[in-house]
Amino acid sequence: MSSKIVIETPAIAKIGNKFAELGRQKKVVVLYDKNTAGLFEKSISEQLEKDGFIFHNLIVPASEASKSFRMAYRLYGEMLEREVDRSWSVVAVGGGVVGDLGGFIAASFMRGVPVVQVPTTLLAMTDSAIGGKVAINHPMGKNMIGFFHEPVLILIDPNYLRTLPNREIFGGLAEVLKYALILDGSFLDFMEDNFQEISTLVSPYIDEAVKRSVNAKVKVVTEDFRETTGLRAILNFGHTFGHSLEKLSNYKALRHGEAVLVGMACATQLSMKIGNISSEDAERICAMIQKFPYPKRLIKKYFLDVAPETIIENMRSDKKKEGKHIRFALLKRIGNAYLHREEIAKEDIIFAIEA
Ligand code: NAD
Ligand code: ZN
Repeated sequence: MSSKIVIETPAIAKIGNKFAELGRQKKVVVLYDKNTAGLFEKSISEQLEKDGFIFHNLIVPASEASKSFRMAYRLYGEMLEREVDRSWSVVAVGGGVVGDLGGFIAASFMRGVPVVQVPTTLLAMTDSAIGGKVAINHPMGKNMIGFFHEPVLILIDPNYLRTLPNREIFGGLAEVLKYALILDGSFLDFMEDNFQEISTLVSPYIDEAVKRSVNAKVKVVTEDFRETTGLRAILNFGHTFGHSLEKLSNYKALRHGEAVLVGMACATQLSMKIGNISSEDAERICAMIQKFPYPKRLIKKYFLDVAPETIIENMRSDKKKEGKHIRFALLKRIGNAYLHREEIAKEDIIFAIEA
């Protein structure tokens, strides 16, 4: 992975220097959603002016629906009207929605211009802004149309998280916990010891959690950029169950991270059933998951009351499935995950859901 990554406060102050290092002209289209424009447009515009950038700000509604062809088409038009050409770059300031949409228009506009990611949610800082997957949605499925388009620069400022609603923080923390479980046992120790501080964004705990997550994602993506060796697939730990749950909630009632959290509980049970991890490790993971204030009532409504067969059927239509059976990312032990390539008996999957 070749993206330059800056993690500090204020990271945006580095943009001028980094553009000089990259040999890029100081001409940028800055994409925000309504919320991130309200919060960050003023200070970012001031920084860009100070550094001598020419820039145009584009603002889209703060909604998953903005990841659409219609919206990309509108943005291409606005860029062409302003005579943006290949010497420009796109800067995406926001959560995964703005990051994915900004990356998508950058990858396709005039056959591709560079993108800079300025993630402002915990999920974007630790996950979606890193690794170069960019996409829009199709009515037939989420993230169906897209590219691998690595950002040239990722500017992460943990201070931007201060305005983030609690539910978004815990949604992002679910992915942070995922990194600890799949790659780094000592990170789980750190999370267990400092969960209160991390979840209330106390420095330096939150900064450390962001850094360790970024390192984990970079490591996996560097070794398996295009998802060919199966390593990148371990990032799907908890996601096969989670996607099914999200789908059952019509992508509305539950945040992605909440669904993944429940999915990780199921995947942990399945790992134990397959005979990998000990019951002590599984209990430790469950105790950590219990610390999250996830909406148990909603989960019960959308998941536990649904027949396990329906959940499994939903998993089968997941795009991450290859071949005829569902492949799960499972744990060998805490800090070590792998892609289970063999078929898993339906009874075992049902056990994991019901446990
Ligand atoms: P999001 O972008 O919808 O942001 C969540 C909400 O928080 C939005 O209303 C946003 O306006 C608001 N917000 C953003 N920053 C804020 C801040 N600092 N303070 C207050 N409010 C703020 O959601 P998300 O969870 O960041 O991203 C979800 C998207 O990411 C999905 O579309 C998903 O498909 C995508 N995703 C992509 C990848 C990838 O590898 N490309 C990985 C995971 C998820
Ligand atoms: Zn995820």
